[in-house]
Amino acid sequence: MTAPVRTRFAPSPTGMPQVGNMRTAIFDWLFARHCGGKFILRIEDTDRERIVPGAVETIMEGLRWLGLDWDEGPYFQSERLHLYKEAAERLVREGYAYYCYCSPERLEKMRQEQIARKQPPGYDRTCRNLTARERADYEAAGIKPVIRFRVPDGGKTTFTDTIYGEVTFENNTIDDFVMLKSDGYPTYHLASVVDDHAMKITHVIRGEEWLSSTPRHILLYQALGYEPPQYVHTPLILGPDRSKLSKRHGAKSILEYREEGYLPEAMLNFLVLIGWSLDDKTEIISRDDLIKYFTLERISKTSAVFNIEKLNWMNGVYIRSLNVEDFTMRALPFLEKGLPPEAKRPLDIAYVRRVMPLVQERVKKLTEVPALTKFFFVETLDYPAELLIAKNMTRQNTLHALEVSLKRLSELASFDETVLENLLRPLAEELGLKTGQLFSVLRTAVTGETATPPLFQTMAVLGKDRCLRRISLALEKLRN
Ligand code: GLU
Repeated sequence: MTAPVRTRFAPSPTGMPQVGNMRTAIFDWLFARHCGGKFILRIEDTDRERIVPGAVETIMEGLRWLGLDWDEGPYFQSERLHLYKEAAERLVREGYAYYCYCSPERLEKMRQEQIARKQPPGYDRTCRNLTARERADYEAAGIKPVIRFRVPDGGKTTFTDTIYGEVTFENNTIDDFVMLKSDGYPTYHLASVVDDHAMKITHVIRGEEWLSSTPRHILLYQALGYEPPQYVHTPLILGPDRSKLSKRHGAKSILEYREEGYLPEAMLNFLVLIGWSLDDKTEIISRDDLIKYFTLERISKTSAVFNIEKLNWMNGVYIRSLNVEDFTMRALPFLEKGLPPEAKRPLDIAYVRRVMPLVQERVKKLTEVPALTKFFFVETLDYPAELLIAKNMTRQNTLHALEVSLKRLSELASFDETVLENLLRPLAEELGLKTGQLFSVLRTAVTGETATPPLFQTMAVLGKDRCLRRISLALEKLRN
């Protein structure tokens, strides 16, 4: 029987959860869910200088927002130091590792010399064969050693990656890397291997940038006598110009996307398609279908492009597919935040419910909702009088059109869409105007804008009083 699938997401809390890392987390999570396995969250916080306060919370918030629930953890490596120390000391006892007392100054000097001689950088292995006497002297001098791995002389290290196939590194290109630092904290390599083993991780799915670390991990597994997991390195994410994904392309925190009005389900769908596909053509895939159909085999080997236009399009698709109530509830916090202060808070939810269906079709991001609907919520409209004068119209006939409309509208007993349409279409003819001309004048008068949701619906939602008031104000504006 094969072991139950266990994957892990192992972020370092060194900043905000970037989209690239989140894409990796999505793959790990999906594979675990697809296989009915477990998804584990492990915080790799052993590089004490690089830790950013609050990063763990934002990482977890990003995962929760995307709906990537974890079954175990978060485990913190900083709480597991004894395990790494034990493993490192065992490797020293068994001859796979050694204490190194070289000072940072000496290492730096060595590095400079290697650069000057155009040699590949790496530890010169001075401490590999210290005598007991030499070690005792260093200890007596109070020098705290690091523990380095003794990379085998000669030979090769090979492993099979699910995506990249057989990968081989010459051992003599691998440095005698540090496993345990002098402060007792492990380096990434040791901690990662010890934990992947202890946590019974079956598949290590991680970014391609870790591929070159993997031979070190394999050597550690061999020395520790453990079975390595299956490695799955996922392709890099590039910007549209095929350079490394930068902030300008969208390499931002996942939480910034939340603030910009993207839906988590759109974000999940979009990110999973960077480097994975269902069938090379399907774009919109539900979360349930992703779980059902996700396989490692369809992860691509070539770098994938982050295309923000595609994300915007996809977000629009997901927004349109929401039911109106859901859309309203999601838009509400963006309205509260984005409408000008003069819009009375808390917003009248019954009114918001009537406004939102008018814009749902047009929205690509929830952040667009306040600007599109502002005129529904503020008292005074701010627009130049000339905006009222429609194409091929004059100040004179615009004034007339507004006056007559005001009168007729004020006589209406009901102000719903059909009533308005039945009044205004014939009225245009009566006034000798094209319907488009009259509608344009009225649109500007009641909204202060030239592009809005359909006019009659808009007027119906604004209501009779507001519309009449605004038309009167438009008349004043135009007369002055
Ligand atoms: N802590 C590493 C990171 O920040 C984890 C790499 C791995 O998954 O092994 O990405």
